[in-house]
Amino acid sequence: MTVERVGVFGGTFDPPHNGHLVVAAGVRQALALDRVLVVVAGEPWQKVATGPVTPALDRLEMVSALLDGVEGVEPSDIEVRRPGPSFTADTLASLRAPDRVLFLVLGFDAAAALPTWERVDEVRELAVPVLVDRPGIEAPPLPGGWAWERVDVPRLDISSTDLRRRLRSGLPVEGLMPPGVISCVGDRGLYSEAT
Ligand code: ATP
Ligand code: MG
Repeated sequence: MTVERVGVFGGTFDPPHNGHLVVAAGVRQALALDRVLVVVAGEPWQKVATGPVTPALDRLEMVSALLDGVEGVEPSDIEVRRPGPSFTADTLASLRAPDRVLFLVLGFDAAAALPTWERVDEVRELAVPVLVDRPGIEAPPLPGGWAWERVDVPRLDISSTDLRRRLRSGLPVEGLMPPGVISCVGDRGLYSEAT
């Protein structure tokens, strides 16, 4: 039986940026994954609690633009199609297969927040966590007994929070996100001052 090695890289991607891209492509190559799914959170329950989030279909479209022409890294709408809050445990459960190994890709900040996730024990059963460095964030302790991987990728000090601020203020975003994402933001009128 050939085993498929699949990376699962989830997030809100509001908007997606080159920091995400370098992680997805870098982890795929470092761990010889067949493919990496960039899973757009349909209802990022922790973020909607603290402020407005761009509609999921807009975020999915921007992620498709981010990954355009990138081999082995694909957008996934699995959480966008599933109603209700997006729990990674559900996503991993629906992706699991006897001939598949799942790797859950997490920046240090996301890994540090793991204990706050819904049904984290199930997450642990279903996937191998893969940690990547995030500039300015210390390596987090993982809950006891987890086997995990760590992958070194170029550290890009880019965040969606900073990009939203830049786009609202009319500051340049070139070099932080690919031209296709910048066009998509403009076409859809996202992150303008009025919103
Ligand atoms: P926000 O500022 O809105 O939280 P973000 O840039 O952190 O946005 P998310 O969608 O929250 O992006 O993150 C999705 C995943 O990508 C998380 O695992 C996060 O740690 C990781 N990530 C985001 N930006 C980087 C980066 N520059 N380098 C490494 N990992 C990153
Ligand atoms: Mg974040």
